[in-house]
Amino acid sequence: MSNLTEGPPPRSILKSVFGFEDFRPHQESIITEVMAGRDVFAALPTGGGKSLCYQLPAVIRPGLTVVVSPLIALMKDQVDAAKAAGVEAGCLNSAMDPSERRKVFNSLNSGRMKLLYIAPERLAIDGAYERLADWGCNAVAVDEAHCISEWGHEFRPDYRQLSRIRNVFPGIPMMALTATATQRVQDDIITQLGLDNPHVVRAGFDRPEIFYRVEPKRDALRRITDFVTARKGRSGIVYRATRADVEKTAAHLRDRGIDALPYHAGLPDEIRRKNQEKFKTDRIPVIVATVAFGMGIDKPDIRFVIHGDLPKSLEAYYQETGRSGRDGDDAEVLLLWSAGDIAKSMFHINKLEDPGERNRAGVSLRKMLLYARTFACRRKVLLAHFDEEHPGSCGGCDICAGEVESVDATEDARKLLSASVRTEQRYGSHYLVDIVRGTVTEKIKDRGHDNLPTFGVGADESRKYWLGIADDLEAGGFVFRDEERFKALTITGEGKELLFGRTDFRTIRRVGGRKESIHAGTLKFASGGSGSEEKELSGTDLSLFEKLRALRFRKAKEIGKPPYVIFPDRTLRALAALRPHTGEEMLDCPGVGEKKLANWGELFMGAIREFENDEN
Ligand code: ADP
Ligand code: ZN
Repeated sequence: MSNLTEGPPPRSILKSVFGFEDFRPHQESIITEVMAGRDVFAALPTGGGKSLCYQLPAVIRPGLTVVVSPLIALMKDQVDAAKAAGVEAGCLNSAMDPSERRKVFNSLNSGRMKLLYIAPERLAIDGAYERLADWGCNAVAVDEAHCISEWGHEFRPDYRQLSRIRNVFPGIPMMALTATATQRVQDDIITQLGLDNPHVVRAGFDRPEIFYRVEPKRDALRRITDFVTARKGRSGIVYRATRADVEKTAAHLRDRGIDALPYHAGLPDEIRRKNQEKFKTDRIPVIVATVAFGMGIDKPDIRFVIHGDLPKSLEAYYQETGRSGRDGDDAEVLLLWSAGDIAKSMFHINKLEDPGERNRAGVSLRKMLLYARTFACRRKVLLAHFDEEHPGSCGGCDICAGEVESVDATEDARKLLSASVRTEQRYGSHYLVDIVRGTVTEKIKDRGHDNLPTFGVGADESRKYWLGIADDLEAGGFVFRDEERFKALTITGEGKELLFGRTDFRTIRRVGGRKESIHAGTLKFASGGSGSEEKELSGTDLSLFEKLRALRFRKAKEIGKPPYVIFPDRTLRALAALRPHTGEEMLDCPGVGEKKLANWGELFMGAIREFENDEN
């Protein structure tokens, strides 16, 4: 088959311009179709490499490729990244000053511009489409395309008028790209944008680079601090449900020597922006945030995401955890949850006025809990939620890695339930745990509950253990916490089945004494050119890697860009291991294209030579 446009084959551009050795799944087929002038609909997971699907054809095809994107905060980064690879790119949005805008217009008018990012509201301006035509618009990519659909979770009215594009530009390829499309949203996008017999790609939602871990929450601050400390220097996000907890967690981390800053809607814009910028440019490793944080963050080398509280749905959880490991390197996520989280969520859900909405929120929460409490492979459960089958035994979650075991806790569960029955289901978990553990408190004595047959039957297990059982009973729907009656645990129908011996009860326990392994940022590197063989960095290579990282950080600061714009970690690891001395050798390293070689080759090879001289 012949190319409809002239120019070098995509694969050579992939290396020479973008510095990549190989396409990620689906990129090649998408690019081939676009090159042939066909429309494309692509649902690829976050980090799947959607940008390349329009950037690469933009480089080869004549004329201008217009990228519609609602994420103004990201445009500058995307433009910077494209420019760093030597692609003439610019953006138009409401957040620019006149001189910046003039530069962009100049480049557009001169016909040099290959890639223009534009906010949807800019297209509403009179004559906007005509100007695009004047500038030689020859392809349109609609990013975050789910925003056009009311069935999506981020509907934006601005997107509606995009349906005009097809009429204005009948003959050019149009691409719709998204990370979150159900079948219904997909159909909607195709119809709304008028895609003509598009090439449809739906990639799997699996994120094999992410290690999933879930734990019951006891001392959240301590657990979060330990986790982060064990991964010192790595970039991560800690999500907390409330502003107060965000502040508290960030302060606690700082007290323990971790550079962490808060991010939430209650902070002045200026501070929030600064904190985000510091995180993005690696000046601080950790940001603690409410879920307000994320839409504008596109940092590819986030190594961990912690949820300090139960998210409200698996969709939210998937999206938030998906912000880690976008560069394809290992990442870890940790979810901490407690029955207290469930109660708080229920409280908010019950306040929802619309019964349908209330119902949907309740279902989402239940699914989230099933995931948190599962003893099946977490990846399997998560993917099943997105209608994707996974065989399980993934090796990349706490369950498959054998960090936890399932134990029969039927007898203990019954002890707790019977303590509740014998006190007329009027008390909360802490009080009931005191009873089974045989703790004599004033109240227990006053009420004579120290004479109950269940008093002290569980003295051999810790308080933490029993509170865990109580949480688990609640999450499993065996008891229900009555917020209106002092959080009293009320036994449900299922709880009765359990109490009367008709079902049993299992709980998850961390396997004792086993130290958790750290999965983030294992310093692997692909050993050049062919194959995907991976080796681990060690010894002096590791010191060289750290040296190159420091160099990258200094340079990034100098040019006022995030470090990953210079090279991703992957490239630095290859440089440290392969130690190139010539441009040709350096081009063999993943992430090095001609433009980057020209810009940074001497500097980094110089640092390598210097390091080797010091070694001798
Ligand atoms: P998405 O928009 O789908 O979330 P991006 O386009 O931001 O993903 O790409 C995620 C990361 O993967 C970026 O750092 C990008 O440079 C990198 N990437 C894209 N394609 C490739 C490839 N073929 N090989 C290696 N890295 C790639
Ligand atoms: Zn698994």
